[in-house]
Amino acid sequence: MFDKILIANRGEIALRVIRACREMGIKSVAVHSTADADAMHVRMADESVCIGPPSGTQSYLSIPAIISACEITGAQAIHPGYGFLSENATFVQVVEDHQITFIGPSAEHIRVMGDKITAKETARNLGIPVVPGSDGGVPDLASAKAIGEEFGYPVIVKATAGGGGRGMKLARSAEEMETAFPSARSEAKAAFGNDEVYIEKYLGKPRHIEIQVFGDGRGHAVHLGERDCSLQRRHQKVFEEAPGPSITAEERARIGKICAEAVARINYIGAGTVEFLYEDGEFYFIEMNTRLQVEHPVTEAIFGVDLVREQIRAAAGETMSFAQEDLSINGHAIEIRINAEKLPSFSPSPGTISQYHAPGGLGVRMDSALYDGYSIPPYYDSLIGKLIVHGRDRPEALARLGRALSEIIVDGIDTTIPLFNALLAEEDVLTGNYDIHWLEHWLDENLA
Ligand code: ADP
Repeated sequence: MFDKILIANRGEIALRVIRACREMGIKSVAVHSTADADAMHVRMADESVCIGPPSGTQSYLSIPAIISACEITGAQAIHPGYGFLSENATFVQVVEDHQITFIGPSAEHIRVMGDKITAKETARNLGIPVVPGSDGGVPDLASAKAIGEEFGYPVIVKATAGGGGRGMKLARSAEEMETAFPSARSEAKAAFGNDEVYIEKYLGKPRHIEIQVFGDGRGHAVHLGERDCSLQRRHQKVFEEAPGPSITAEERARIGKICAEAVARINYIGAGTVEFLYEDGEFYFIEMNTRLQVEHPVTEAIFGVDLVREQIRAAAGETMSFAQEDLSINGHAIEIRINAEKLPSFSPSPGTISQYHAPGGLGVRMDSALYDGYSIPPYYDSLIGKLIVHGRDRPEALARLGRALSEIIVDGIDTTIPLFNALLAEEDVLTGNYDIHWLEHWLDENLA
């Protein structure tokens, strides 16, 4: 096992990894930008290294700075968290070239899954059902229109290098394709430096269902059921739950087995998530994330496992601490993402926290790097906390969420907390009757 791990991230996820390290008796090293000198992850780690100025590209995304921090502190492994360098194959290669262990999959697996066209191709070859659409990149408008005709409108134009819902445009007709195609391309170019796009059949009322998988790198893998992350704004998740209210035990076993067998076949190591759109009883692969997800705690809650601990063990060459038959679902869990944003525009709302009180009690977990007097810097993601509740069943989890929301205090800035209070009054949320478009419609009607 490692003696010391460096965490190449910030915020709540850095804390999450530091906590796992401490429980395992492993020393932790935080890295931080000058803007994060007072951040909670710096205070909580055993050691810390300043790696650059505020801008993410010059700090948390700076490969030389992070490698140097490892060498200075003698850290033997790097946990990347999510975002930043977590799915950067070049980074993984450089880490390995320096004889440091990357806590995550191989550079090759990240590369294959990072490019969405290759990912779909790989998924199809591994027996995973995919969304119907173009075979690979679509070079020009004429081809885009031909594909629109072939699959039937509406279709969605998506960036090959996509992520975070960017570079994605809906076309309901050939006419709309004339603007959707070039605008997806230019958005992709601006966001990812790569303007290649592909086209998929647009699903009208799917749910976003993702399967958590875990591999040992030696041909064994398990699945830890699904998460339903359908409540989204601009293709970004805001509320996640497990198990999915619409998924039966038979469907879970079927799709879970397909995913576990697929990753086992490629000797995948560590945590991964296979994302699907789910409509009329069918699963359609959209992408695979080769890292820990923001919403991993709902899976941890219902299976009673520590996924970060498991990632660290896998990277150290240890065997998985559970087999498929050891994994059974206990109750229901919900996570909400609390962002420093002002409603109804969702515009960023950085600033100083004048008062912070985390909710507690039975079945409540608050993953956050906030503290009284903390100043949220304006340079990074607006996620400031995740509230996770666990109950014996879905109604109990919902009641617990409402109760926890009544306790939480985040003063001094605007947050998305009021959104969740409002959602808990909605019949569709209470019954789990929603698809990926539900929240957008609700926001248009209720917050516009
Ligand atoms: P990103 O990597 O940018 O997050 P994804 O491919 O994971 O992109 O898609 C993000 C979200 O966009 C999905 O959860 C879903 O809400 C929507 N989406 C993606 N593909 C389709 C599709 N073919 N039809 C309808 N909605 C889609």
